[in-house]
Amino acid sequence: MTTKRDYYEILGVPKGASESDVQQAYRKLAVQYHPDRVPSEKKEEAREKFKEISEAYAVLCDAQKRRMYDQYGHVGIDGRYSQEDIFKGADFDSVFHDLGFGTGFESFFGDVFDFFGGSGGRKIRKRGPERGADIEIPVNITLNDSYNGAEKPISFYRTETCPTCNGSGTKQGTTKKTCPVCRGTGQQASSLGGFLTFTQPCNKCRGSGEIIDTPCATCAGRGKIKQPTSITVKIPKGVNSGTSIRVRSKGEAGERGGPPGDLYVVVRLEKNNMFDRDGDDLYTQTKIPFHTAAIGGDIDITSIKEQLKMKIPSGTQSGKVFRLKEKGMPNIHTGKSGDLYIKVLIDVPTKLSERQKELLREFAHLSE
Ligand SMILES: [Zn+2]
Ligand SMILES: [Zn+2]
Repeated sequence: MTTKRDYYEILGVPKGASESDVQQAYRKLAVQYHPDRVPSEKKEEAREKFKEISEAYAVLCDAQKRRMYDQYGHVGIDGRYSQEDIFKGADFDSVFHDLGFGTGFESFFGDVFDFFGGSGGRKIRKRGPERGADIEIPVNITLNDSYNGAEKPISFYRTETCPTCNGSGTKQGTTKKTCPVCRGTGQQASSLGGFLTFTQPCNKCRGSGEIIDTPCATCAGRGKIKQPTSITVKIPKGVNSGTSIRVRSKGEAGERGGPPGDLYVVVRLEKNNMFDRDGDDLYTQTKIPFHTAAIGGDIDITSIKEQLKMKIPSGTQSGKVFRLKEKGMPNIHTGKSGDLYIKVLIDVPTKLSERQKELLREFAHLSE
């Protein structure tokens, strides 16, 4: 939640402002921010602004609410009044009639309230089919899986259409009834005073317009049930940690006949003992005998794919990094391979035979 601005500040009036000052300030701002009077790209912003100033006005013009606000701030209002109640009793009629917003304003105001409803996760209009939610499942893969590509079995729970009632939620042989409270509209209107009415989803049917008398036993009338699901996901070559693989229509079932959501399989690359990965490049290190470092020679290298020979030039210093071109990971998009970087460390022997020591002493003598 964002921090709410001070009501007085919103309307630009001092703390002790009289009711008529507050009304005047609101009137001025209402003209400025009325969504019908701003260019379309600014409409959303104007709506928010309009909501903000209307709320400030509704509170500051009501002696009791204003007292609560002065004493306890926003907590005093939000903790005590519902969003609808804040507006209840406020005199919008005289403001807007004077401004000539009379006709059509009612529907506009309803529109603004629609936004309140939306922020609370409720829908005002009778609910139609809705797409199901997406599901995100992590999957661990090894570097080899990424190099070769893989198929991974994945198990998870997803909401599916109830097979017993086919999603209707009703017991076999029975049907839904039109909701008696809202007569099928899914909405309930409450008055805000004057000609202003505020609609909200029907409490009885929760906005569907229908009620179930004899619910399906399998799903208890929900029309959906959680089911364990297993699928095999193809892991493309070159995927890295964080790559998200989309599997269409394997998310949660939709509402009221809507399509299912998607499944997103999010790749987590396990740490590899031998290689560090950076993008498409791999990094490793290997020890080489000190004599090879001095006089050069071939050494064996294990890449992610195969055994390789690598030439060590004479006079190689410990810590030198060699690059083997295109021996890294395949790029997920282009398929082109990255490189393999090998850091060589000189291995100083710890056990020497007498003969070896003798030769090294001779070597040392020659080096002086
Ligand atoms: Zn069912
Ligand atoms: Zn209803």
